[in-house]
Amino acid sequence: MKVLVTVKRVIDPYVKVRVKSDGSGVETANIKMTMNPFCEIAVEQAIRMKEAGVVSEIVVVSIGVQQCQETLRTAMAMGADRGILVETAGEVQPLAVAKVLKAIVDKESPKLVIMGKQAIDDDCNQSGQMLAALLGWPQSAFTSAIAVNGDAADVTREIDGGLEKLSIKLPAVVTADLRLNEPRYVTLPNIMKAKKKPLEVIKPEALGVDIAPRLVTLKVQEPPKRGSGVKVADVKELMAKLKTEAKVI
Ligand code: AMP
Repeated sequence: MKVLVTVKRVIDPYVKVRVKSDGSGVETANIKMTMNPFCEIAVEQAIRMKEAGVVSEIVVVSIGVQQCQETLRTAMAMGADRGILVETAGEVQPLAVAKVLKAIVDKESPKLVIMGKQAIDDDCNQSGQMLAALLGWPQSAFTSAIAVNGDAADVTREIDGGLEKLSIKLPAVVTADLRLNEPRYVTLPNIMKAKKKPLEVIKPEALGVDIAPRLVTLKVQEPPKRGSGVKVADVKELMAKLKTEAKVI
């Protein structure tokens, strides 16, 4: 079966994010970018399923600027078979992502779409759910285990109260949580091999999709600086401070 995996290019999680001086967003120029960590987990999952003989082809998709090709190449160096870049310079919000992906799904007819549970830049946690809704497909968000079982998949979801086990009919949308797997490192020979894998570049207009943003960012600002801590002599003093100064109890 064919699997579609989405990969978003985001600011490297180990980079300290700086707010632009005009408060319109965060600085991305000359900043190290990388594949969204949850998308890495999604790619790894598809590869493991291919290695297990469950999956025959892995197509990776990214939506964004031309440099997203690097993210797609990384996914192909991990083991994906081919890539599709839907190239656009502007901001792409979750509803637009879901609409673009629906158009790609209509074209590619995968049996499974694996996405990250959330992008660590906007932390929206919406695109997978919106895609499933647009397609009218079953979904499993926050997935920590998946086993394909004929025309269905047995999934485990990380929910507030613990773990939820479900059987969902395929085709379906699955979003990957942290504990699904530990992604592999890419090797130099595989990076070289990935350069020869097919990468298609298309524009959103060619898919007939309107990706205009629906939300406006009013202002982005740094979180307030944390004050320094104080040492208390005993529990009595701590309780008093929590009551009278912090006013949390
Ligand atoms: P979000 O809803 O923004 O938190 O993103 C959830 C997941 O949707 C991400 O982990 C990606 O797998 C996918 N996604 C979101 N934006 C993009 C994008 N621009 N290109 C490719 N995949 C995306």
